[in-house]
Amino acid sequence: MPTILRVAVPLPLPDPFDYLPPESVAAASIAVGARVRVPFGARELIGVVVGHGEVERSPRLRPILALFDPRPVFPEPLWQALLWAARYYVHPLGEALATALPAPVRERLDAPEGSHDQALRLRPDPAQRARLRAGSAPALLYDALVDGPQPWSRLRGLSPQSTSARRRLLQLGLVEPLALDAQARLATTAPPPLNAAQQQAVAALVASHGAFATTLLEGVTGSGKTEVYLALIEHALARGEQALVLVPEIGLTPQTLARFRERLAAPVLAWHSGLADGARARAFERARADTPMVVIGTRSAVFAPLPKLGLIVIDEEHDPSFKQHEGFRYHARDVAVVRAKHSGVAIVLGSATPALETLANVERGRFRHLRLDARAGHAQPPAVEVVDVRRERLQDGLGGKALDAIASALARGEQALVFRNRRGFAPVLHCIDCGWHGDCDRCERAFTLHRARARLVCHHCGRERPLPRQCPACQGEGLVAVGIGTERLEAALAQRFPTVPVLRLDRDSARSADQFERVLARAHAGEPCILVGTQMLAKGHDLHGVTVALIADADAGLHSTDPRASERLAQLIIQVAGRAGRGTRRGRVLIQTHHPEHALFRTLLGGGYPAFAREELSLREALALPPYSAQALLRAEARERAPIDQFLAEAAAAVSDDAVRVAGPLPAPHARRAGYERAQVLLEASQRSRLHAALERLLPVLHAHPLARRLRWSLDVDPIALD
Ligand code: ADP
Ligand code: ZN
Ligand code: ZN
Repeated sequence: MPTILRVAVPLPLPDPFDYLPPESVAAASIAVGARVRVPFGARELIGVVVGHGEVERSPRLRPILALFDPRPVFPEPLWQALLWAARYYVHPLGEALATALPAPVRERLDAPEGSHDQALRLRPDPAQRARLRAGSAPALLYDALVDGPQPWSRLRGLSPQSTSARRRLLQLGLVEPLALDAQARLATTAPPPLNAAQQQAVAALVASHGAFATTLLEGVTGSGKTEVYLALIEHALARGEQALVLVPEIGLTPQTLARFRERLAAPVLAWHSGLADGARARAFERARADTPMVVIGTRSAVFAPLPKLGLIVIDEEHDPSFKQHEGFRYHARDVAVVRAKHSGVAIVLGSATPALETLANVERGRFRHLRLDARAGHAQPPAVEVVDVRRERLQDGLGGKALDAIASALARGEQALVFRNRRGFAPVLHCIDCGWHGDCDRCERAFTLHRARARLVCHHCGRERPLPRQCPACQGEGLVAVGIGTERLEAALAQRFPTVPVLRLDRDSARSADQFERVLARAHAGEPCILVGTQMLAKGHDLHGVTVALIADADAGLHSTDPRASERLAQLIIQVAGRAGRGTRRGRVLIQTHHPEHALFRTLLGGGYPAFAREELSLREALALPPYSAQALLRAEARERAPIDQFLAEAAAAVSDDAVRVAGPLPAPHARRAGYERAQVLLEASQRSRLHAALERLLPVLHAHPLARRLRWSLDVDPIALD
């Protein structure tokens, strides 16, 4: 009986496909996890071997076209974590693997290493120099390296024979290749002496080295969590191991990278979805080495190979950007915990505002809990006030108290920060004469007014319209901009404080990493200024000049139908407050609201985030909401409502388990987007195992459904937003 290979291909199909091994290769010699090129219909695909099998006869099976490497492309613990994730998120394995091994990596992994990103350095034993003929190309190359490593791009031009000279020097063992990052940080800066709380945290974590354990490091903003991570990473590197650090999408700034590179005596690889194809393939290739190194990256870095992984750190573990919102909807923090378990290593989840899921895991005794309760160095916690704006006529969203606070900060030579979670000038353009307002016809949601660009822009589908001068309905002059966006705040503040720069940070003003950096660099320079922005501004930045932080409008988060809105608002308030007073002067935080008596403010200001979290957790428990239940959301969208409703209703009916509550089909909260009708079914169970059992029974029903190919559908396990 011929042995065949089961291959997962990067397509949304539930099962792997069978292939014969290539001519004259025994199937058994090809490991599970090896990358192969296979014929698929008229196409060729690069897939991954997921198993071996035996078949009676195989007249129609085709052989694998090419075998890149008979060994697995992922280290075993990562492979196990991937298999777990595909099952847990009920997602086709082929697509899950394709997420971990995206097309550019899949296709270019074995491409010759781009020589330009490599440097050379001399081996420590220079006695061999005598073996080189004076004046020869190898001798020239050798001499160019005497003062230190040089990038290949500079060495290549030394002589026409540079390439063969390099080969000769490598053969003789006179030089060795060096990653450029390693070269970049030849000088390391010394860490500050850790304070007592930091030392205790490091000691507790180092003591449990070498075994799987998940630890929540809950530290107020500015308490020095990053210093704890750095100390732990140094320990891992000193043991010859590798470290993986995940940060939120907007946390991976050049400053973050620079801070790690300055301090660590090993290559620090950046890993994020914005890497160009070649760079991504090279990062993957380099992360397959077993030398000490650090990978720091966003969500997808959880799949960095790192065969000698010794430590995982998730910074700002509560951040929603760790959850993927399309395709393979994994949560990088949760995959990382499983990966740490299979690797037998420690994982640290750091946050000032831990996710309620994480706190529930502490409560259940699954995670350890360490705290840093005070700011590091000399910074004090900021003073936070709720500002009642009910009886006030706000000027472009700004009340008298806020303006005074900003003015006095500037007068003292300090900086102010204004947070508003809406970009653009105003969320609505409205005609006071006839009631017309601009809506995107594909989404049935209001267009946002972008005044500087003179456009109406749909923030849901990206559609744009020129800004009308007159009302399109009544041709009147009664158009008014309603509501406040960051662009409007910027304009109002610039008019009010004409002598200082007003710097805006949002996805419009900082389209590129460069623009983002320029704004932050100006803020870091410390001159008086006003920073205005969205989430981008709220997180992580260590700006020592900011002493006043204003949340321009906290109201939307208080009355949302999304059960997670309070958690997000509380986290946001703490994060924004965390930007104020990080230097020597005490910070002040103002929160403008029309609901100053709201319980959330009382709890948060009275007892801080821990008190808020306790209350919110007991509320969730009483309502049997996550983390006290498990959810999955089946979404479907199509041009027409009818097929979605039928598909979802039949799916809902197929879940026949008393332990699983089924809600829907219901229109999605955002029921029409980019011209598609959207609806969903929510599945919920007190026991996760029951939910998963139901999903496993449901999946084949969905794949086989006659309508499944006529609409887009997806399953989202542990959804973090119900839209
Ligand atoms: P977090 O990650 O908790 O927000 P950071 O590690 O960024 O905190 O530290 C906040 C600030 O305090 C930084 O400017 C950092 O350099 C400083 N800092 C951290 N630990 C110490 C320490 N032990 N002594 C002095 N300053 C420290
Ligand atoms: Zn009108
Ligand atoms: Zn739209």
